[in-house]
Amino acid sequence: KLTQKISDAFRFVSGKSSITEKNIDDAVEAIKMALLEADVNLRVVRRFVNATIEEAKGEKVLRSVDPGQQFIKIVHDKMVSFLGDARQDLVLKGPDTISAILMLGLQGSGKTTSSAKMALRLKKEGRKPLLIACDLVRPAAVEQLSVLAHQIDVPVYKEEGATDSVKVYKGALDWARKNLIDTLIIDTTGRLQIDEPMMQELSRLKEVSNPDELLLVADAMTGQSAVDIAKAFDEKIGLTGVVLTKFDSDTRGGAALSLKTITGKPLKFVGVGEKPEDFEPFHPDRIAGRILGMGDVVSLVEKAQEVIDQKDAQELQKKMEKETFTLEDWLDQLRSVKKMGSLNKMLEMIPGMAGQVSEEDIDKAELQTQEAILSSMTRKERANHLMIGPSRRARVARGSGTSVAEVSRLLKKFDKMKTMMKKMSKMSKNPNTAQAMM
Ligand code: GDP
Ligand code: MG
Repeated sequence: KLTQKISDAFRFVSGKSSITEKNIDDAVEAIKMALLEADVNLRVVRRFVNATIEEAKGEKVLRSVDPGQQFIKIVHDKMVSFLGDARQDLVLKGPDTISAILMLGLQGSGKTTSSAKMALRLKKEGRKPLLIACDLVRPAAVEQLSVLAHQIDVPVYKEEGATDSVKVYKGALDWARKNLIDTLIIDTTGRLQIDEPMMQELSRLKEVSNPDELLLVADAMTGQSAVDIAKAFDEKIGLTGVVLTKFDSDTRGGAALSLKTITGKPLKFVGVGEKPEDFEPFHPDRIAGRILGMGDVVSLVEKAQEVIDQKDAQELQKKMEKETFTLEDWLDQLRSVKKMGSLNKMLEMIPGMAGQVSEEDIDKAELQTQEAILSSMTRKERANHLMIGPSRRARVARGSGTSVAEVSRLLKKFDKMKTMMKKMSKMSKNPNTAQAMM
């Protein structure tokens, strides 16, 4: 599986404190194999890998404090930019005019389901959508759309025994005008393969409906062939975007990456299940995280972090009991909080975690000032804060680019912390309380 493969690839680099060009080559090679196995188009794999190597071999990675993480970030960012940076919403007219969305795609790709999902979404946004049953080829298609429409409580337009989808569309438009509809969602016919009669029918539908959006509905599980289908639809009809369905399945990366890179059409939504609610806007950063298996990587990092935190906390506990907590220890604490900060960044990449993790309770500017001040002290001073008199304070202030007042404030805060710690170490043996206090 792609996710597992890429996690393996990262094992070459994550957790190493120094990194060589050879390490990067190994990791990149593994990523390449993984993408190919996931049915990503070969041209796309080459382009992606070349772009990544170029950046990863720069000074920034090799010289950075944590090259593994820096490398992961580069691969992730590169993938986001390949997938299309910002997310793309529908481009529709204002609610006073009728907009139209034409849903295109092969049979079984998920057009009818996605039409209903789209209708539900637009309804929740306050629009008044109408589903139009223009698939007259598949016997049960009209009924399927009606059932879904009923479920989500959106009107559906259908004509019994109709044989011409253009005529159905025209009837729907009349009905829409009388019923204050603002968005038409046209479900169309799909075949197992692209053929002339289908393309001709769709061209005629496009001509009469003059759609604002022409969305290709593509099955994420079809990998590379989705790209050929997209190219054919774009040449014959013209596309404004892609809806990628069945993203809840196992094969989830390849098609997205190839589709965007080769067709240049924005991916707008992903289907993540069979129910009308299982529909999400396409978020490049989340999908990149999914493709790269950041979830796996992050959980490893997290576990390592937990172990370290526990050890730190135990030592801290001992120091509190002996009342030997120093400025040096404070500086250590600050630095580990900072590390947690970058961990939070990584958490944001995990699907489902985005937006749930906040760094708000960490005042970054304040932490930075504190770290600067503490770093400007000598080890001796940090071991014994009582020796930091006025002239030392002035020196520390100059060295850290702060003021004497700020240095004094920090020392006062430290005194307070110590007093509180004394009280707390008597009260409780739980080391976490001490950390929470900072
Ligand atoms: P159409 O022929 O293009 O109209 O495709 P349908 O909308 O009828 O969908 C074909 C099948 O795929 C149906 O069984 C749907 O329930 C299923 N399907 C559609 N979208 C998704 C999705 O995002 N996830 C999953 N798991 N199934 C989907
Ligand atoms: Mg259908």
